[in-house]
Amino acid sequence: MDAPEATSQSHEHLSLAEEWIAANYHPLPVVISHAEGAWVTDVDGHRYLDALAGYSALNFGHLHPALVGAAHEQLDRLTLTSRAFHSDQLGPFCRDLAALAGKELVLPMNTGAEAVETAIKTARKWGYEVKGVPDGAARIIVMSGNFHGRTTTIISFSEDPDAHDHYGPYTPGFDIVPYGDLEALEAAMTDETVAVLLEPIQGEGGVVLPPAGYLRAVRALTRERNVLMLADEIQSGLGRTGTTFACDLEDVVPDVYILGKALGGGIVPVSAVVADRSVLGVFTPGSHGSTFGGNPLGAAVGRAVVGLLRTGEYQERAAHLGKLLDEGLRGLVGRGVDAVRVRGLWAGVDITPSVMTGREACERMMELGVLMKDTHGSTVRLAPPLVIGEDEVHLLVDSFAKILP
Ligand SMILES: *Cc1c(COP(=O)(O)O)cnc(C)c1O
Repeated sequence: MDAPEATSQSHEHLSLAEEWIAANYHPLPVVISHAEGAWVTDVDGHRYLDALAGYSALNFGHLHPALVGAAHEQLDRLTLTSRAFHSDQLGPFCRDLAALAGKELVLPMNTGAEAVETAIKTARKWGYEVKGVPDGAARIIVMSGNFHGRTTTIISFSEDPDAHDHYGPYTPGFDIVPYGDLEALEAAMTDETVAVLLEPIQGEGGVVLPPAGYLRAVRALTRERNVLMLADEIQSGLGRTGTTFACDLEDVVPDVYILGKALGGGIVPVSAVVADRSVLGVFTPGSHGSTFGGNPLGAAVGRAVVGLLRTGEYQERAAHLGKLLDEGLRGLVGRGVDAVRVRGLWAGVDITPSVMTGREACERMMELGVLMKDTHGSTVRLAPPLVIGEDEVHLLVDSFAKILP
């Protein structure tokens, strides 16, 4: 990789960013102008392997021909109707997504946070109208270390001070229990508990895996106590873990799937809540909505995404390449790495804090032509697109080895 030159195009964009963009992110100093598959190119012509894939929004890589094709075709026909009218795209999309998830109904939204909000509203309404909890008393149990998005309600139960602080007053009705602790979960349940909301694997937390058997035990407990299990699969779902959903790793079927990120194919924001009629049937006209939710362009892309997943090809790739990634990264433990956690093509790597921060690791990887993202402290996350090959897995592991002492 060339050293940045004074004449580089990047500098101009970095100074524009500094001057004009609110500082709610701290991006790596790379200015991307085009991309294909697992590779991106910056304004100065440098190529990088994208090992973040838009936090899993790009599971099928950049510009996947089937997805771009679906988008192009739809762009020239119909892009928006609002839900005041039907479109010829939404029905087929919802039918196919429901079938993929083995559920009966889909409620389409746009961003992940909106889908989480929709799941929270679903659980509360279900609690009052079906379970019989006194109005206003419903409680939802959430997990320590959670990440579910950025709305005021969602950050009300975040434990991350950066995400949470100075946004109060906060939405009440949530109880936090330690992630992976079944006894604590059981102890927190009351007659007013309507749902348990959890990530089957915590992505932002650093690809944190619950103990084996935990999800299955949560499933059994929630069923026994007439409490909904809401699985936030926005980052973990749609092929990332080597299975369609991370819940599949334990053969668990939650009451509600919350989906987003890769559902929009890296092209448009598409999210959804997917559940049976006994749950999503609580909604009646006017009780919830979104101007853009279920728009024909998003529905066409989302349906093409479901089409890719229906073949099982990407799940298999993620499982197969994930084994290679796991083996490779494990070889780094004790050499500047304390621990690695891998499921499919998704890895959390804890770098020894005295060696470097996660941010420093990302900067060094960038110099070697690999883009990845730190989560907290010295933990970094790898989530390359599922279209990578064995060579790229090796490149990823070899580059990681090079930045270590
Ligand atoms: C990204 C993410 C969200 C929020 O999605 P947005 O589209 O950014 O609103 C929610 N939950 C999980 C697990 C996520 O990874």
